[in-house]
Amino acid sequence: MIKLHDKHFKPFISATEINDAVQRLAVEIANDVGDEIPVFVGILNGSFMVVSDFVKEYPKPCEVTFIKLASYEGVKSTEDIQRLIGLTQDLTGRTVIILEDIIDTGNTLAEVHRIFENEKVKSLKIATLFYKPEAYKKDFKLHYVGIEIPNKFIVGYGLDYNGLGRNLPEIYQIKETQHMTNLVLFGPPGAGKGTQA
Ligand code: 5GP
Ligand code: MG
Ligand code: MG
Repeated sequence: MIKLHDKHFKPFISATEINDAVQRLAVEIANDVGDEIPVFVGILNGSFMVVSDFVKEYPKPCEVTFIKLASYEGVKSTEDIQRLIGLTQDLTGRTVIILEDIIDTGNTLAEVHRIFENEKVKSLKIATLFYKPEAYKKDFKLHYVGIEIPNKFIVGYGLDYNGLGRNLPEIYQIKETQHMTNLVLFGPPGAGKGTQA
């Protein structure tokens, strides 16, 4: 278990599982893309680690660029997406694949689609390493998903809690406070002493 600021986190997805998922994504996308030279667009800050590992696994020529958006405050997603760095190159006619660390509500993805609204790209596809289906509120198709996870806050592998945790090579999940444990501990005599096999 680790502590970042005021919260505790428990190990959730190992570095090996992450690497396997990144490799699967790279192979799947390379097969679909065929002879095109795609442009991978990472969404900073969170995606820096998955983009770095992904392009090393990508077995063919490709280009890489980044845009920088921010939506999260602490452990909550907000609808107010800030565009900190936009597109810096002309992507007319290009096969574009967005590389996200995680898709949660989809608010950030909506902003990505707004950014590409006026770009005359050949195709735009979305790839994400992690996806929280229970939290997703949008209809945009997610073309490539690495690992589906429950609707709980995670850190590590590029993802932060108020700035900390991005450098962890594996994923940790927030540990919610255990009110039920207290109930049993301070309950009536005998409570919590169930039969033991
Ligand atoms: P959305 O806009 O889909 O709600 O969230 C997208 C962005 O919020 C992600 O790219 C990521 O930066 C951040 N985010 C979403 N879920 C989590 C999470 O569980 N942990 C962390 N650290 N960031 C998250
Ligand atoms: Mg992100
Ligand atoms: Mg963040």
